[in-house]
Parts: sequence; C-alpha cells; structure tokens
Amino acid sequence: MRDNDLRIAIVGAGIGGLSLALALRERGVQADVFEQAAELTEIGAAIALSANATREYARLGLVDELAAAATIPTELVYRHWEDGSRVAAHPVREGDAYVHRFGAPYFGIHRADLQRTLSTAFGTEHLHLGCRLTDMVRERDSVVLEFTSGRVERADVVVGADGVRSMVRRWVTGADDVVYSGTSAFRGIVPTAALPSLPDPHAIQFWMGPDAHLLHYAIGGAGESVNFFAVVEGPPVWPHDGSVAEVREDVPVESFRGWHPAVTEMIRAAESPVRWGLFTVRPLLRWSRGRIVVLGDAAHGMLPHQGQGANTSIEDAFALAALVAGARPGDDLEPVLTRFQALRRARTRAIQRSSRVTSSLLHLPDGPAARMRNAKMARFPEDFGWIHEHDVQQTLQASAPLHR
Ligand SMILES: Cc1cc2nc3c(=O)[nH]c(=O)nc-3n(C[C@H](O)[C@H](O)[C@H](O)COP(=O)(O)OP(=O)(O)OC[C@H]3O[C@@H](n4cnc5c(N)ncnc54)[C@H](O)[C@@H]3O)c2cc1C
Repeated sequence: MRDNDLRIAIVGAGIGGLSLALALRERGVQADVFEQAAELTEIGAAIALSANATREYARLGLVDELAAAATIPTELVYRHWEDGSRVAAHPVREGDAYVHRFGAPYFGIHRADLQRTLSTAFGTEHLHLGCRLTDMVRERDSVVLEFTSGRVERADVVVGADGVRSMVRRWVTGADDVVYSGTSAFRGIVPTAALPSLPDPHAIQFWMGPDAHLLHYAIGGAGESVNFFAVVEGPPVWPHDGSVAEVREDVPVESFRGWHPAVTEMIRAAESPVRWGLFTVRPLLRWSRGRIVVLGDAAHGMLPHQGQGANTSIEDAFALAALVAGARPGDDLEPVLTRFQALRRARTRAIQRSSRVTSSLLHLPDGPAARMRNAKMARFPEDFGWIHEHDVQQTLQASAPLHR
C-alpha cells in the first residue's frame, strides 16, 4: 500500500461488502474486508438478481460466471392462491423480453454460488475471516477498529456492510433502528422433480391469497431446484432473539391449508421447519458520521417483496466506490459520504416503501380490492420498471464530480 492510498475497512463480507470491495478494486483501490464468520457459508437460500445489479456485475466481467450458475425465469406470473389461475404474466426469458426492456439479465441464483463468485474474484489476501468488530475509536484523520480476536486496525474510512442488525449503524445513529414487520416467512429449496402439481416450474411465480403469499423461482444452471419463500401475517410480536426460530413441523403446512396443491406440495417437501421473522430498518436520518458510513441492509434493510434488498446493496456498493475512489488520506470525507447518502437515500426509501405496500397487496382476500391489485400486477413493467431500469453509473454521471 502506498502512503497516499486510502485505507478502507469494510465490515461484513455479505453481498454488499464483497461487491464494494470488487467495485473499489476496479477503480484501483484495495480495501480490506473484515467478516465475523470463520468461513463464508451461506445457508440454503437463493436470491433474485435484477438488471439494476447485474449491469454492474457485467462491467466487472462476472456475468458469464453468474449466468452459468443461475436460472433465468421464463416469465413472471401471478396466480390465485386456491385455483391456481394466472392473474397476470410478463415474459422474462421468453423473447429475451427482460433484457430488451432493462438492458441486463435477471437471474435466480443460489446465494452460495453468488457469494463464491464474489469472494473468488476478490481472493483471500484482503479478506479477514473470524474478525467480529466490537468497537471503534474516532481519531482526527482516521478510525481505529477493534475486533473480538484482539486485532486492532486503523482505517481512513469504515464502511458498515454488516447487515440489518448492524453494529456500525448503531455507532452512526446512536440507536437500534431495527423494526419487526409483523410478518414472517418459511423458505426452502426443493427438487423440481418433487413438485408434480407445479405449473410453469421455470417461471418466477407469486401465489397470492388471504394473509399470505408464496414466491418461488428455479435455481441451478438447468433449473433443477425450486427456491420458495412463503410469507404469512404474524406473529404480532417476534419473541425470539435473532431472526430465525424453529417451529413445530406442522406449522408451515397449517399456514397454507386449503391452498393449491402446488403450494402445499412445495412446503411439505422442504426440509427444516424454520420461521424467519422479517425485519426492516426504519428510514435513517443519517447514513454516516465522520469517516464511518453504512450501506446495504445496514442502511435500508427492507422487506424482500420487491426482491431488492441485495440488489440495492449492490447499487450502493458501486455508487460508494465511485465516490470514494478519488479521495486521499487526510481529505475531509464528510462531503463525499454525505453525497453518497444524498444519491442513494430517496431511491432506497422508495423501494423500502414499495416493498411494504406490496406485502399488504399480496395478502388481500378475494374481492374488489384483490381485483384492483390484480390489475396493478398486470401493469408490472409500467408500475415497477423504475426499480429495474436504474443505472448507477448514469446516475453518478448526472451528478456533479466531487474531487478533481
Ligand atoms: C428470506 C429473504 C429473501 C430475500 N430475497 C432477496 C432477493 O430475492 N433479492 C434481493 O435483492 N434481496 C433479497 N433479500 C435481501 C438480501 O438478502 C439482503 O438485502 C442482502 O443480503 C443484504 O446484503 P448486505 O451485504 O447488506 O448484508 P448481509 O448479507 O446480511 O451481510 C452482512 C455481513 O456482515 C457480517 N457481520 C455482521 N456483523 C458483523 C460484525 N460486527 N463484524 C464483522 N462482520 C459482521 C455478517 O456475518 C454478514 O456476513 C432477501 C432477504 C430475506 C430475509
């Protein structure tokens, strides 16, 4: 490292942290990533990557590798919870419709494959596992980071990419900004062959019904598995310490009693009866303090109903990398970090809000309100296209340069 290189410490090697490290490297800045876990293992779940994120990965040359591990859904389909009728549908892979409309692909991918692609691209030299941040001390032109292992590091900038229960955010805002949404989820990955009643197994589909919905899409290069995510209202209060709790084996099945066999088959075929509390972060007034800033779930944890938590974390990462890369040690970084917040806050708040509204829409009982909702879902590209068409680099170019 040269004396005039900025020392950047990223806390958290999740999707946001690793994306930031790669985006910085693309701009000639070497960051260090500190992750509490002793190894990078993602629990069995998948993620949908949309064009607003994949266009950034395409610039890094990662898109072919992601494509090899991912499945592109044939269509986006909304279905009635009980009779399975198609309420609305939009082509995705068919006719290459999604890429034509949004300029980059849509992938369903196992999180482990995404994280492996990112961490392999980053390498191990600057990835420090088993490093849980416990405290920070602000000095005049730097920050001292303290880890459980006793390790101490000094950095010019600290980026908290440490997730929805971020310790760095508590340091920035002085409060615990996590809010339980009053909804919870069951999720699983099931072999497609175990789902004989499922129509269109290679589509991304929402099954919408009273007080619940189920979303699924295929993953694996050939779509050999289906990842599902089934959301229910309640419990009204989350009684557990973390976000995940074991439940009685029959709870997921009971929650979807009377639903279409494709839904109940999927839930029965999943292995572990675990319930996820869905938590969000209340809109923050500030994303940074001095030389410390947050991004991703730490800044704007949201409900997953627009499939945008990871995608907006990736957008954040590429925006922050572009803004920070021109700075030097000793520079006043507050204007840079304030600019990052200004660039990102309105958009991420709008998506947080839209995800919350979508949750209620997906849970309407049959009736006039559900029919209005169905008409809205038929206008998906018009009503929600703004989320997918976003281009971080264009937004950066449209805003005035900061340094030099
Ligand atoms: C059920 C579910 C389904 C979802 N589906 C989608 C989807 O389809 N598409 C989508 O875009 N998003 C989805 N999301 C949201 C997405 O998973 C998150 O928004 C995304 O992972 C956020 O990335 P992140 O890097 O900010 O945080 P995380 O991925 O949570 O990473 C944070 C990292 O920081 C580490 N860490 C925490 N504290 C410390 C510390 N003190 N010291 C060191 N390391 C620390 C953690 O171990 C972790 O590795 C879903 C979320 C859920 C719950």
